[in-house]
Amino acid sequence: MALQQLQPAPKPEINPDSPNILSWPDLGLTLINGFITPEEESALIDGFQSLSPSLDPNIKKRISQHHGRHFDYTTFGTTSTITPIPSYITSWLPRLPTYPDKGGLPDQFTVQYYPPGSGIPPHVDTHSMFGEALYSLSFGSGVGMAFKKAGKEEARRIRMPKRSVWNNSAPEKPVSIPEGVYTGEEEKPFEIYLPARSLLIMCGPARYGYTHGIKPRKTDLVGGEVVMREGRYSVTMRSVRREEEVGCDCGYPGVCDARIREEQEEARKKEEESRGETSV
Ligand SMILES: [Zn+2]
Repeated sequence: MALQQLQPAPKPEINPDSPNILSWPDLGLTLINGFITPEEESALIDGFQSLSPSLDPNIKKRISQHHGRHFDYTTFGTTSTITPIPSYITSWLPRLPTYPDKGGLPDQFTVQYYPPGSGIPPHVDTHSMFGEALYSLSFGSGVGMAFKKAGKEEARRIRMPKRSVWNNSAPEKPVSIPEGVYTGEEEKPFEIYLPARSLLIMCGPARYGYTHGIKPRKTDLVGGEVVMREGRYSVTMRSVRREEEVGCDCGYPGVCDARIREEQEEARKKEEESRGETSV
């Protein structure tokens, strides 16, 4: 069973002034329960459905809508395309906690619908293209999100063409894992339950050094009780880095796209040099 593969979730700190705010300072994670009201949740669902009128309640696949600044994964640059942010997002956006040194107010909003039982493969969002703070607002249903400290396996996978743990940004050619990057024991994933209307904020280790994903399952275990998953929606919010800000100097080179591009560049140069030498 999938649940046996998990380690117990680390205990959160509860904000004494606002008990709805849970945090895991060592991981860089914050969960704000009840971030939006049930009315705002209804407006989000209505807004999403009005843009996808063909949305069938029995639909089995994930559906995505994009608002704000778009990002071009093929050129690794921001495109000039900016689509207006709908009012069902801007109505609560000013309440979002922001961190000027971690990207400030997000400018890219991806709204997605996940049918009950569906999952998201574990991945690391690209480091270099987005500001540090990543936000995920859950609505419609709660879900358990699995986090796993990236180890050798993730470093290996991220270097395989088209089988990356990144979002759509696999390197073109496999490259070797740098010596000594990951030596410790591989850790098992743990899950944190994200209730409907909660906001998850990922910074630091959770953002750069852990994969996150959702195991495909019909149920979650919440406080010892089995809870059926329903159709879940999420708004993922990111700040797209301007061209001159693109890059990363995080402490997780094994899963850092900026570092892997440097590795590739270095490997390419070496290859060219050796070819040059042999042709003389
Ligand atoms: Zn990085």
